[in-house]
Amino acid sequence: MTMPSWVSGEESKPAPMPLLLVQSFVNTWDGDHNSDLLLDPATARDWLTEAGLWSAERAPDPVELHRARAVREGIRAMLAANSGGPALEPDDVKPLQAVARAERPALQVDPNGHVTLEADPADGLLTLLLVIRDAQRDGTWPRLKACGNPDCRWAFYDRSHGQVGAWCDMATCGNRIKNRRLRQRPR
Ligand SMILES: [Zn+2]
Repeated sequence: MTMPSWVSGEESKPAPMPLLLVQSFVNTWDGDHNSDLLLDPATARDWLTEAGLWSAERAPDPVELHRARAVREGIRAMLAANSGGPALEPDDVKPLQAVARAERPALQVDPNGHVTLEADPADGLLTLLLVIRDAQRDGTWPRLKACGNPDCRWAFYDRSHGQVGAWCDMATCGNRIKNRRLRQRPR
C-alpha cells in the first residue's frame, strides 16, 4: 500500500483514512528524532498544505503554529487516554474547545442527498475535529492510541484483537520498556 506523501515513513501502524490524517498530524512531532514539522513556518506550510489542512499562500504565523501544536498535544492526550494512560485533564482539551468555539463547519447536501458537515479548507484544525467526531461515531476512535513509551508517544492504530496494543512497535518501544523494567526490578 502506498501512503500519501504527508504520512511519515516511520508509520508502521497506519489508521484508515480519514483518521490517518489525525494520526499523521499528531506524528508531526517525532520524539525519537526530536523533530517537529509544526515549528518552522515554511516547513509547517508545506506539510499542512500537502495534508489538505492549509490553503493559504502564506505560511502560518507563530500564533497559528502555537495553536496547532497545542491542539496536537491535546489530541495526543486523548490518544494516551485511549491507551489506558492518564485520564484527560480539563486543560488537555481546551485548545480543541477553542477551535470548536471559533470555527463553524458548514452543513451541506450533495446532489445525491448525502448530508455532510464540512470545514472550510483553510480551517485545518476544524477538519481534524470533524474527523475525530466521525471516528468516535463509527467506533474506530478507541483504536487510535499513543505509544506507552513516555519518550515516544507516537500515535499508532491498534488493529489487535481486544485492542490491547500498547506500543507503536513491539520490537522497538515494547522491548525497550520491558528491558528498562527488568533493569529497574529490585534484586
Ligand atoms: Zn513507541
